Amino acid sequence: MKVPINIAIDGHSSCGKSTIAKEIASTYEMNYVDTGAMYRAITLSCIQHNLIMNGNVNTDLIKKHIDTINIRFSYDIVKKTGKTFLNNINVDDKIRNHIVSENVSAVSKIGYVRDKLIAIQRKIAQCKNVVMDGRDIGTKVLPNAEVKLFITADIYERAKRRFSEQCSKSDNISFDKVYQNLINRDREDSQRKINPLKQATDAILIDTTAMSKESQKSLALQIINKVIENDL
Ligand code: C5P
Repeated sequence: MKVPINIAIDGHSSCGKSTIAKEIASTYEMNYVDTGAMYRAITLSCIQHNLIMNGNVNTDLIKKHIDTINIRFSYDIVKKTGKTFLNNINVDDKIRNHIVSENVSAVSKIGYVRDKLIAIQRKIAQCKNVVMDGRDIGTKVLPNAEVKLFITADIYERAKRRFSEQCSKSDNISFDKVYQNLINRDREDSQRKINPLKQATDAILIDTTAMSKESQKSLALQIINKVIENDL
């Protein structure tokens, strides 16, 4: 049975959003969309085409380039893995690199980049049964989502989680760099003019700092069960 609701999950970088989103998607057999992966894929393409040099983003050239890019995200419910495609090439091994993390917030604040991705994201969610995570899902992309969660965690804890993830991928990066990148992205994402990261007024806040993955999952499922029971 398709669950006739959409679930919007927003929050800070590396706070556990995508883990919670994937658990929800698997439990209710919903489609999952990682919108951060889409912004990362566009950023990767801009880096590959030398449209970002030493942190300087060439917005005019990116505007032309963006029309030539095709972005797709697909999710395997059984394996709980997402795949991100840039012009039909799987780019998951590249989009989590530190160079992409360092430049993604600068690319994400460009209006036409957001317009392009928001149109794709809304199309995916138009038939419902979608759980989507990002920064502006509850506030802008799916303001009528039936469930909205806003996930956060202490910055030091988030940096620790991100660092161990990076280490397991053998990305040669120091803890300090990871920590500083999260501080920078939090600032840029929440202070940008267009669709900044903020908690929607009707979103439920979950602070995962001291929570195990299991308790994050069960709290999220409790909240969603209530909504489904009331709506069906
Ligand atoms: O979720 P993740 O940390 O991979 O997102 C990478 C970046 O993409 C964020 O720091 C933010 O700049 C951008 N983003 C965004 N809007 C979204 C999702 C991600 O601006 N809906």
